[in-house]
Amino acid sequence: MPMMAHPTIFALSSGRPPAAIAVVRICGAQARVALKRLIGRVPAPRRATLVRLRDPENGEVIDEALALWFPAPRSETGEDMAELQLHGGHAVVAAVLKALGRVEGLRLAEPGEFTRRAFDNGRLDLTAVEGLADLIAAETPAQRRQAFRQLKGLTGDRAEAWRRQIIEALALVEARIDFSDEADVPEDLVRPALHDARQLREEIAAALANSGHGERLRDGLTVAIAGPPNAGKSTLLNRLARREAAIVSPIPGTTRDVIEVHFNLDGFPVTLLDTAGIRESDDPVEQEGVRRARQRAETADLVLWVIDVSATDIDAQIMTKSDLTSDVWELRNKVDLVVDKLCKSSESGITDSAGNLFAISAATGAGMDGLLSALSAYAQHYFAATEASIVTRARHRQAFEETIAALDRALAQGGSGSEELIAEELRAAATTLGRLTGRVDVEDILDVIFRDFCIGK
Ligand code: GDP
Repeated sequence: MPMMAHPTIFALSSGRPPAAIAVVRICGAQARVALKRLIGRVPAPRRATLVRLRDPENGEVIDEALALWFPAPRSETGEDMAELQLHGGHAVVAAVLKALGRVEGLRLAEPGEFTRRAFDNGRLDLTAVEGLADLIAAETPAQRRQAFRQLKGLTGDRAEAWRRQIIEALALVEARIDFSDEADVPEDLVRPALHDARQLREEIAAALANSGHGERLRDGLTVAIAGPPNAGKSTLLNRLARREAAIVSPIPGTTRDVIEVHFNLDGFPVTLLDTAGIRESDDPVEQEGVRRARQRAETADLVLWVIDVSATDIDAQIMTKSDLTSDVWELRNKVDLVVDKLCKSSESGITDSAGNLFAISAATGAGMDGLLSALSAYAQHYFAATEASIVTRARHRQAFEETIAALDRALAQGGSGSEELIAEELRAAATTLGRLTGRVDVEDILDVIFRDFCIGK
């Protein structure tokens, strides 16, 4: 892509002023001109240089700053880039942005536009772009580690290596097709190609199987709090939310929606869902809320089923676990009201050997430590295999599964099968991996991926 086709873009890349320091970045062919205009020169490449920034209109000094110059192609975007580290006041930033806006050929960047250029110029593949977005959004150490690995090519480099190997196998089959009449082309090029394809298929399948819950690590382990009315679900959620400094957010939609609480449990992201509304109702709005609550509970990884042990109908409250595919823990709440009863029960084993039965009081906090450490252990176990996950989005899993399916179809032809069909399936497998990294034909998914970026990134 010719660099001159782009306008030169600039933006405040650091957080919202006021702050100690503000970072303004400029990217494109006119970045050099912009530097000359504002600081009178172009600093030595990649060296922090103390400069005076002047308003080009009247020569007034705006600020003293550090300027950095990254000439193409060794820059983050692959184009000429400049970075100005200013004092982070509103007026300083405003004056610098205004001055830059008056330089010919410069305009403010759109959200994600720097990263988009890095992608267009081949500095980042699509999975790295996703990793970068995840790194900026990461709230827990586990999310941060996963995002960083993805940014550094854990998914993209593997996919690209596999794509190249498939293309090599494809070249063998195509040689066989193109030169089948010629004497010096070995009779059997197809068999070694299929041998390689089989090995690759196994390798991709194994990596996929070892990928744990990388997709979940982005959103958090989903834990639904459910149970009969008045069992104490909201009280429990509030207690957990207060203790864990959680972010409480209602899922938008109907008025009686599921409440979501996100918190960081020993480094792992957990999303708690309050399905307080699960009960039968005649009100259509409430029915919709109940339907959603039930649906969310059904897709949760773990359900905390709360029952009121002080009630007379304990047996009726105990859920039939066959309703749900998730793991279920039973929380016997309000033990403060029935201490005597509890003591008797605990002799007969109220916390069962599987560790999925808890006696708590959401009101007094009794039993909460045990519940939280069990939750933490559950999360740790859940994310254990995720460390080297090559999959962090459904898009990735789908691409690898499609690749395996195409390889399987090629393999199904066998050594004596149609060479054209084998070539076609190998080509499909390579294209699928190419779409994953953004090497081929991805215009349709770019908007979705870049939509989440902020201005200046
Ligand atoms: P939900 O309908 O399941 O969300 O139940 P709530 O959280 O609204 O609780 C119903 C009632 O039980 C409220 O009056 C709570 O204060 C009370 N409650 C909840 N947990 C406990 C508990 O552990 N002990 C006692 N004594 N009361 C509780």
